[in-house]
Amino acid sequence: MEEIREGKAVILVPQLREVVSSDMPVFYNPMMRVNRDLSVLGLAYLQEREGRSLMVADPMSASGIRAVRFIKETNFEGRVFANDISEKAVEVIRENLALNGISKDLCEVSREPANDFLRKSRGFGFDYIDLDPFGTPVPFVESCALSMKRGGLLSLTATDTAPLSGTYPQTCRRRYGAIPLRNEFKHEVGVRILIKKVIEIGAQHDIALEPLFAYSHLHYFKVFFRKDRGAKATERLLDQVGYLLYCFGCGYRSGVFELFGIGRECPHCGRDLRIAGPMWLGGLWDTEFTEFLRDRAQEREEIYSGTKKIAELIYEECRVDTLGFYMVSKLCERLSIPLQPPIRVAGEFFGGVRTHFAGDGLRIPLGHGEVLRRAERLKDIMEKRREGDGT
Ligand code: SAM
Repeated sequence: MEEIREGKAVILVPQLREVVSSDMPVFYNPMMRVNRDLSVLGLAYLQEREGRSLMVADPMSASGIRAVRFIKETNFEGRVFANDISEKAVEVIRENLALNGISKDLCEVSREPANDFLRKSRGFGFDYIDLDPFGTPVPFVESCALSMKRGGLLSLTATDTAPLSGTYPQTCRRRYGAIPLRNEFKHEVGVRILIKKVIEIGAQHDIALEPLFAYSHLHYFKVFFRKDRGAKATERLLDQVGYLLYCFGCGYRSGVFELFGIGRECPHCGRDLRIAGPMWLGGLWDTEFTEFLRDRAQEREEIYSGTKKIAELIYEECRVDTLGFYMVSKLCERLSIPLQPPIRVAGEFFGGVRTHFAGDGLRIPLGHGEVLRRAERLKDIMEKRREGDGT
């Protein structure tokens, strides 16, 4: 075993191999640091807002690192329930709790299949669940929805980004009941399909799981949801599920709630439109929650610099919460713009904001026609600049 430090936790984990894989005796992936930092801040949000004792579930705890960090980094009041199906993991969780001086009163450890563990709690209900499986979270979402209190938060991670982003569209259709799209914002499409699936699972029980903060990083997607109850709240979410129409010719995109009677040709260039979805077409970020994550990330020394950067970028991004974004390189390629401007200059030119989904992606609060008109102007400017340079 090897001792590592993350946030305020000291944790024993198996010797870190070069390749992190699901067959490690106890799983620990240092690359998920940003994910765990945001989980801690999500719980800190709930703790500050509720100001009371909270019941927290870590159903797939592995080394117990999240449970330890929750208790040490959130002025925690209440109880954390750390669970894992692996015998070795449960042993290591207990060692790690002892190493961090955490008593059994604060953290209860169990070894059960996650669904059994979650459903047993229906009597009292969890305020916060951090679901972090290998691959898809789908088989566990219903148990999360049922075992959470109204107003509770669910932090959900999915590492099956390849099906969701269109590399394996058949898998996506089977698992998520949706058709993905391998376009310039395929990861955003994947996140929206994931959100749609979670909303549908909750809706079967008149449970409204509202997305508060979504992001894509490395090999995973993560979304925070807030639980509400009732037919009306659930309907309000389902009303924001629809389809994306997209043109691979000119990049036209549009969200529609109904496929009946839609034109199949791009209104800008006349090519065939592709249809993806169904997916969530609503906003990806709740401003208050996003601002909290950004503020607390910046304030806290123990939060990793990479997390601070992402939280800041998404805080900027959430001001222009559009369906899809434009990649500047793609726009330049489509319009044969000879020189690609730096992202900051392009952002000012189009009046857009950067997206965390892609290094040269911009969210532009304009209709597609206006984006194309401005891109034509940019082309003139860049052509003149090139002629001036004699290049
Ligand atoms: N949350 C951990 C962290 O931040 O380091 C990593 C969790 S790891 C991705 C997934 C864990 O889920 C593994 O420890 C595995 O043993 C456990 N697991 C897999 N299937 C499970 C199931 N059905 N019920 C409970 N635990 C399960």
